[in-house]
Amino acid sequence: MTAYTPATADELRDYAPVPPSALGPELSEQGYHVGRVERNLFWVTDGTYQSAFLLTDEGVVLFDAPPTIGHNLRRAVDEIAAAEGATNKVTHLVYSHHHADHAGAANLFGDDVVRIGHEDSRRLLLRDNDPTRPAPEVTFAQNYSLELAGERVELAFYGPNHSPDNIFIHFPDHDALMLVDIVNPGWVPIFNLNLSEDVPGYIDAPAKALSYPWKHYIGGHLGRLGTRDDIELHKHYIDDVVEASKEALGTVDPTPYFVKYGPNVWAAVKGYLGAVTELATEPVVAKYTGVLASADVEEFTYSTAFMIVQSMRLDLGAGSQVHP
Ligand SMILES: [Zn+2]
Repeated sequence: MTAYTPATADELRDYAPVPPSALGPELSEQGYHVGRVERNLFWVTDGTYQSAFLLTDEGVVLFDAPPTIGHNLRRAVDEIAAAEGATNKVTHLVYSHHHADHAGAANLFGDDVVRIGHEDSRRLLLRDNDPTRPAPEVTFAQNYSLELAGERVELAFYGPNHSPDNIFIHFPDHDALMLVDIVNPGWVPIFNLNLSEDVPGYIDAPAKALSYPWKHYIGGHLGRLGTRDDIELHKHYIDDVVEASKEALGTVDPTPYFVKYGPNVWAAVKGYLGAVTELATEPVVAKYTGVLASADVEEFTYSTAFMIVQSMRLDLGAGSQVHP
């Protein structure tokens, strides 16, 4: 490897334009957009991250506090509360999961807030010991109904997916579902299935999301809300990666790699799995370029295919052979 020298902007490669359908509303001068999802449920974005809040007669319930939105969360709540003639006092904070990029502004709302999250979010936040993300005091294992001032929000946990503690947040009276870091509406997942820890759990989550009734999807990322069609398109993309990975596993012959590298078995493994992953990546990148934003950033599909191939081997036992 040669030493890494930072490029100038002119030297960097070009990508396909972002499809206009992937983009959301213009941001304010302060760098955020706040919009109504339905009735008294609102969402906030800075173009990359998303948060949501529910205005009630007894206080504001905040769902996630991404540090990139940061103090703009307060501005968004104040702006809407004033316009709606409602209280702007944040009384509850729900964590979708423990990750700092969605929770690292939680401390901005003080200690006089009821924090709610999965019991594993509490465990992981106590482990991480980060003052910006105080652990939730109210926790649950499978289901939790948050009822406040006549409003209802249903929290549910179905096992690990993107993270060990990622929950489904359903707003049955607002036709909305918040599920963070699974589907990026209009965009491909980033590296490694959106940096997911549990591959089968991540692959299953969109179908679980569609089993709920809703029209508006709050995915936690990028500039717009999602629709059921966005979830379907994401599922097709993942299904295509799975199919292409299966086919590549059945196509690439490992023999030459092991013949060439002999005792260096790791070099052979690297060569073989790299060839499988590359073969799986190509048709998917070609199919989704221009359809999903960043589909031509090949590393995203490549690393997602790599994780899926490994999950097929390790979780599903594909290609495992017992020595005779
Ligand atoms: Zn996350």
